[in-house]
Amino acid sequence: MSLFLSKHMNSPQNNITFTIHRGSHQIGGNCVELATANTKILVDCGLPLDFEEQPAEVQEKILEDAKEWTRDCDAIFLSHYHGDHYGLLREAPEGAKVYATKETANLMKVSGVFGEDLTKHLDVQPVADTVTVKDFRVTKYDVDHSALGACAFLFEVGDKRILYSGDIRLHGKKGVLYKNLPQNVDYLFLEGTNLGRSGRRKTEKDVENAFVEQISSNPDSLHLVWCSSQNIDRIVDLYRACGKTNRILGVDPYTAYILELVNQTHPSIPNKGYTGFQIYFPWYFTKRMIEKDKQLVYALRKGATKLEQNDLQVNPSKYVLVFRPKLLADLKNHLADTKVCLTNSIWAQYWEQDKPEINSMKAWLAEKPELRKKLPDIHTSGHADVASLQQIVEHIQPKLIVPIHTEHSEDFGPLFPKVEVLEVTDEVQYSIDAV
Ligand SMILES: [Zn+2]
Ligand SMILES: [Zn+2]
Repeated sequence: MSLFLSKHMNSPQNNITFTIHRGSHQIGGNCVELATANTKILVDCGLPLDFEEQPAEVQEKILEDAKEWTRDCDAIFLSHYHGDHYGLLREAPEGAKVYATKETANLMKVSGVFGEDLTKHLDVQPVADTVTVKDFRVTKYDVDHSALGACAFLFEVGDKRILYSGDIRLHGKKGVLYKNLPQNVDYLFLEGTNLGRSGRRKTEKDVENAFVEQISSNPDSLHLVWCSSQNIDRIVDLYRACGKTNRILGVDPYTAYILELVNQTHPSIPNKGYTGFQIYFPWYFTKRMIEKDKQLVYALRKGATKLEQNDLQVNPSKYVLVFRPKLLADLKNHLADTKVCLTNSIWAQYWEQDKPEINSMKAWLAEKPELRKKLPDIHTSGHADVASLQQIVEHIQPKLIVPIHTEHSEDFGPLFPKVEVLEVTDEVQYSIDAV
């Protein structure tokens, strides 16, 4: 097998090129172009994770690039609803055709709760199975990730088969889905977030058990759990842990809205009206939501069991709250004389971000040395560990691997000695030769 530049290509079947616009040497911000002479497809259109920390001129360049990459696309395929995979969609031209699973299409709407709905100008089509876009036949395969409805895509042109893993893991609730991925593909674009980080990852079941343990060993405390509202597996873990410890799970209106969207495709996931599920409406936070969309908040209130925040002080042992630093300003007063346990259920790196809400949270914790000392981490990664990556490759048996979504592409070679690994560079166009 060999790779050479597109000018050497002669038959339409061979004439497939790919360009990783971003993601060959960084985690997140994925954007990959697949093209033939008359078809241009984009796979993911992600915002770099460090976008907000960049100076204005760099941000401007990132937005300009995205405009260029999305111009004249026949279709954009999105693997899941994390911002580092769809956050630059705003730059796509009016009416651009976007394919995503129903869950992804639904959950991208949350971008409009506080900001701009990044997808409202686009023609978003739910992809159920296989679609044909000019030269490409594209099939989606559900995978497990910390985003509900995440998928991999198989792109076929003639007898060429290119599989894009998206973000994937084996230790989640549906980890076994990887066994449905197609085998013997020519190219596998494989994520490698956890390369350079050793160890087996905890399963979501381990996380649920750890929540039960943490709540049971601090029975008099109100439990605040810092987790992503979009991590549906985690919310389910917490809800189950609440059931086992006779607690009520309290969620803020943003989380409640996400769960309503999830409910459209997954009615069994906890939501408004479920036993042991209540919504708390922090004053400032809710005010901000009302300012943006009054109807949305009214609809959330309708039929909801409201958690009375004054009761947090009276009956702290009754509740577990889904929590984020942004909610602290609102909750502080209710927590002043309350015994509280805070649990991290997020990627530890979030603590290091220089954001006002994180800094306020650190300042708050500084006043509470007891709480700070006992801050447990109950979390697991949304990405495959090294052993899982090997299992995935063992199943797929690709002819060639292209590392993506990784800071350690150099580790792929030693990890997969039987497969050719092509380390590529962002913004270079490569051609896929006849295999
Ligand atoms: Zn990602
Ligand atoms: Zn992701």
